[in-house]
Amino acid sequence: MTEPNLAALEERLAASQIEIEALTQETLNLYRQVNLLYRIGESINACLSPTDVCQLVLRECCKILRAATGRIDLDDGFTLGTTPENIDSQLSVPIENAHGHLGDVTVYNKKNGFFSAADEKLIRAVARQAGIALENNRLIQGLISKNQELERLNDELKALDQMKSDFVSNVSHELRTPLASIKGFAATILLDDEMPAEIQREFVGIINDESDKLSVIINDILDISKMMSGHMKFDVRPSRLESVVQEVVKLLAVLADKKTLNLEFQLVDSAEVMLDPTRFAQVLKNLLGNAIKFTDEGAVTVTQWVEGDEACVAIEDTGEGIPEDQLSYIFEKFYRVENVVHTKEGTGLGLALVRNIVDHHQGRIEVRSRVGEGSTFTVRLPLARPPIEAEDTGAEANPDR
Ligand code: ADP
Repeated sequence: MTEPNLAALEERLAASQIEIEALTQETLNLYRQVNLLYRIGESINACLSPTDVCQLVLRECCKILRAATGRIDLDDGFTLGTTPENIDSQLSVPIENAHGHLGDVTVYNKKNGFFSAADEKLIRAVARQAGIALENNRLIQGLISKNQELERLNDELKALDQMKSDFVSNVSHELRTPLASIKGFAATILLDDEMPAEIQREFVGIINDESDKLSVIINDILDISKMMSGHMKFDVRPSRLESVVQEVVKLLAVLADKKTLNLEFQLVDSAEVMLDPTRFAQVLKNLLGNAIKFTDEGAVTVTQWVEGDEACVAIEDTGEGIPEDQLSYIFEKFYRVENVVHTKEGTGLGLALVRNIVDHHQGRIEVRSRVGEGSTFTVRLPLARPPIEAEDTGAEANPDR
């Protein structure tokens, strides 16, 4: 039997130990790599923000590839990390997803050597996962904002639904009151054969007034449905604005008289504009009618002037005013400040029609109001031709209004 060669055995043992150490190191590396890919995979499921994904990728890549530092540059301008002053070694790979290039991840200065092909393979796998994570995040953000938009639309629909319910109750109320009055006075006349002609005439007058109220409401409802279906017709022609304003002021003076309100028309500048006189009269009737309706004492003043290339008509009252937080809603269909307590006549359709008609005339309407002090509605229309004064003198009309 030959004696075991101790030296040879020792040599083999040492070689095996080195092999085992190398294998252990390799296993450890593989474990770290799998762990890294797993963590990145988790970040995809967690739908982290782009910043969180990039931080995770950069931190782990530097650690596992034994890089001194690194940086991520996304195409949308986002950057993370630094570029060292002295670069000994560098490895850079693109971050991509199904839609294309999103940015780059770069690691610098590998400790004890250079980056290997295996390092590149690993960082490419990581960059691919980062691309998916970033895309997931983009999709989730899109879903979140779509969801928020849907919630907002849903709230709007609910508010509209509430306004429509209020509208139905307002309209029923508005139709019932004059109808009851018409029925009552007509029945009284019919039943009383000996009613003096003077009283009969008075009752017929009331029936006439109440029928007018009914036809205003019904016409508003018909107009709003024409407006909503885009079938409202306009007969626009060159017109003297003050003629239309004067006519409406004259027509509604009787309502102001009944409430002993001082109604005045101040014509500062005359103006020629392109308008449909009937439709524009409807605008003024609504605005002036509201001013009188919502004013219990004081005055209602209508002023017409020219400003630049616009003709302006302001209807100013000293009435109850409109709360500031409701000003942006009053031009919406069915909206009424006093929807909760029905104390004044109205359907909430008037200002919606007003704005639609003004829009058709390429004009604008503005409102200023203070609760307890009054409101001013100003309609601005483009002039059909420049004001005569401006042509003659070159001066701007009413520069300080
Ligand atoms: P309504 O038929 O109720 O008058 P409108 O659309 O004309 O409907 O007006 C909407 C709401 O705006 C009114 O219900 C009222 O609350 C408010 N409003 C309009 N004009 C005035 C005004 N001159 N003064 C105070 N409130 C006003």
